[in-house]
Amino acid sequence: MSGRRFAGKSAIVTGAAGGIGRACALRLAGEGASVVAVDIKEAELTETATMAYGSNFATMVADVADRTAPEGIVSRALAAHGGLDMLINNAGISGRGGGVEQASDEEWDAVLDMNVSSVFRMSRAALPHLTKPGGKIVQISSVFGLVGFPDSAAYAAAKAGVAQLTRQMVADCGPQGINVNAIAPGVIDTPMTTERIQNDAWYNEAMIKNTPMGVGKPDDIAGVAASL
Ligand code: NAP
Repeated sequence: MSGRRFAGKSAIVTGAAGGIGRACALRLAGEGASVVAVDIKEAELTETATMAYGSNFATMVADVADRTAPEGIVSRALAAHGGLDMLINNAGISGRGGGVEQASDEEWDAVLDMNVSSVFRMSRAALPHLTKPGGKIVQISSVFGLVGFPDSAAYAAAKAGVAQLTRQMVADCGPQGINVNAIAPGVIDTPMTTERIQNDAWYNEAMIKNTPMGVGKPDDIAGVAASL
């Protein structure tokens, strides 16, 4: 950590009840930011807040895929902390609905809505209020959005969408002095992946064996997010 480099800064982190989002929220809070941590899982979100003890840390139970939620989340940060400097669009769901021939419309719609449309809507709600210049948005894409893997059509399309939405936002928001970046993690050990890391032979063979540094930790991604 680098002391309190985020003192006086206000941040929203979505999907902060566990995994990468929890690590990001704790990292920003640990370095002095005032954080609004958002998730649908109330008990685990409270646990995150307990871990952030001593920080200026608020929680909000919300479904970020709900079309009305983003405005409320941003209002909460403005009310709690008087401004908004950073948004980490982390919340996501895994999609194991198969390839194009297997994926149902329901799977496709749910994964695209959660993993890319909610990122668009959270960003749209935050942008008018982000500090200009100096505001930051970090989105969590995935290696699935960069390389083709079997059986994950919807998840991969959504994460590629996050990567391209990010490039588009760079073009639109850069001139206002807002930095927008995406991180594309490989395999990180979180509640989303633990079961697959332990029991899925294909996942181990295709994903982990081909990753020179092996399975990462949520803190690895939090460190990158904080530097961005
Ligand atoms: P995680 O452990 O499942 O944490 C994500 C959190 O977001 C969970 O608490 C989840 O609740 C919550 N969430 C899901 N839908 C939500 C919604 N509609 N509104 C509010 N909160 C919601 O996942 P993670 O592994 O930390 O992943 C974080 C991000 O990194 C995701 O976007 C994921 O796609 C991406 N990613 C992860 C990996 C990896 O290897 N772990 C690799 C590349 C990219 P539920 O548990 O109830 O869904």
